[in-house]
Amino acid sequence: MRKTRKCAFCGKEFTCNSGSQRYCSEHCAEAAKAQRKKRQQDFLKAVQPVIDIANIDNVLKDAHTKLKVSVNVADADWQKIQDLFDQEHKWMLAKMQEHIREVNGMFVEERRRVQKRYKEYDGCYLGHYAQWFFFTIGFSVVAGGLAILISRYYSL
Ligand SMILES: [Zn+2]
Repeated sequence: MRKTRKCAFCGKEFTCNSGSQRYCSEHCAEAAKAQRKKRQQDFLKAVQPVIDIANIDNVLKDAHTKLKVSVNVADADWQKIQDLFDQEHKWMLAKMQEHIREVNGMFVEERRRVQKRYKEYDGCYLGHYAQWFFFTIGFSVVAGGLAILISRYYSL
């Protein structure tokens, strides 16, 4: 009893030989690997702005103190600069939250994909175990029956 399943890349039906086989051919496995790698890179690319913005935030914090010591400014001007920084900071925060939301969404999507992949894998894997399980039960029933017959034969 061979299980057929759909190729995770091209969707074509194929018979799976091992529990971990997800693709119909070497070609599809390679193509899927390349696609997965690209998706990971895209994911990192999407995360990078959050890291950058976090760093810019630190730079801005530094700029505050650096500006204070190096430049002699009037109080009013200083207030203006502070406001400017505050606005910039608020904008950064909003931008950052937006990105975090985006990245969270991607995490959820990624997790859903992984769960789906494991479910597929489990289906085939358990299938193989079930085969062995029933084979073992069948074998012990036959062996037990023979043992009873033989022992009866000798006891008569
Ligand atoms: Zn395929």
